[in-house]
Amino acid sequence: MAPRKSNTERLGGPPSTGSEATRLIRAGQAPETLAKTVGPPIQKGSTVLLPNAASLYDDANYLTYGRQGLAAQTALQDALAGLENAAGVTLYPSGVAALSGALLAVLKTGDEILVTDAAYKPTRRFCDHALKRFGVKTTYFDPRTPPETLLGEAAPATRLILMESPGSLSFEMQDMARVAELAKPRDILTVADNTWGAGYLYKPLDHGIDIALQALTKYVGGHSDTFMGSAATADPKLLRALNDGVLHLGWAVSGDDAYQMLRGLRTMPTRLARHGTSGLEVAAWLRDHPMVGEVLHPALPGAAGHDLWKRDYIGASGLFGFVLQPGPQAAVDAFLDELDLFGLGFSWGGFESLAIACDHQLTSRKLLRSYPGPLIRLHIGLEDPADLIADLARGLDVYAARRG
Ligand SMILES: *Cc1c(COP(=O)(O)O)cnc(C)c1O
Repeated sequence: MAPRKSNTERLGGPPSTGSEATRLIRAGQAPETLAKTVGPPIQKGSTVLLPNAASLYDDANYLTYGRQGLAAQTALQDALAGLENAAGVTLYPSGVAALSGALLAVLKTGDEILVTDAAYKPTRRFCDHALKRFGVKTTYFDPRTPPETLLGEAAPATRLILMESPGSLSFEMQDMARVAELAKPRDILTVADNTWGAGYLYKPLDHGIDIALQALTKYVGGHSDTFMGSAATADPKLLRALNDGVLHLGWAVSGDDAYQMLRGLRTMPTRLARHGTSGLEVAAWLRDHPMVGEVLHPALPGAAGHDLWKRDYIGASGLFGFVLQPGPQAAVDAFLDELDLFGLGFSWGGFESLAIACDHQLTSRKLLRSYPGPLIRLHIGLEDPADLIADLARGLDVYAARRG
């Protein structure tokens, strides 16, 4: 796109005369030039003022409306495109909106899609309700299905495969590169929800996946206080479809939120390094604890999916699961309630540690519904891992006592 000219040429000049009400309307307009700060300016604008009548409908040379294209949002899109090695990135007001926005941009009535059974639960809700209403059929697959078998299950109407690796809650790894390689000649699009890999630990587009989604809400934001999602693609045609989808469905994100995401991006590699090493330290400690059956963390040597993680990832995030020795729900609740440093709450990717019980959510799945004991998910934050381990040790003592 050609660089856009300043829209504010007309706005300088002497202050307006007239009554105070009129002068207050004209006062305090955007300056023509801005001091250069380290980050982009946060522009707040729905209306964009044009320099003359001819430019009102001159979309080729002027930004004419503020839903897209303001400074902080554009700076974030450029930064994310660099991170993901993408031709471009579209932004959405949440991670779920990125998922729904991207799918609606490329699917049509009569299409069928294959979706991992380990998908983030709201993804499943969107497929089972919204997509179904528009005549798109979803079939769930076990993420451990070999890619050749999975593609063998694809029907002539299959248009898209939606993957998440590691899977939500259960952390199965999938050979997404191989799935993409097999899907391409059959004109089946591949989409990865890469929130765990954050576009940094893993880069789906480099592995042949068509669209990389992430909830920027998690590691890019990094402070559990801002919602946003992104879709990245290396294919100019798909980028046009994603941009059209944003235009048609009216998504917009605020300059303040885009700025917060850019701020988070600066420190994301540093934070992820700490989340990753602390997470592995806690995971290794849990693996040896008598109350723990299995640790679900692909970066842990010997754990399920470790070979694929090692092949494709440059590090680990701080999110993983573990299976407790069998015990009643009351004992699980007592374990969680005993924790001091782990907040009990959904979402993750912030500086703080969090814990949830997962069994309740597994009931909505088709295939991966149960484990030998209660399933717990931890997010390891930026605290000292020794303190987190001490907290978990106290909680597991309570669990052991309550199991009877
Ligand atoms: C949190 C999450 C989302 C959704 O992000 P929101 O910004 O909360 O809507 C999507 N996918 C995964 C894997 C997530 O963990």
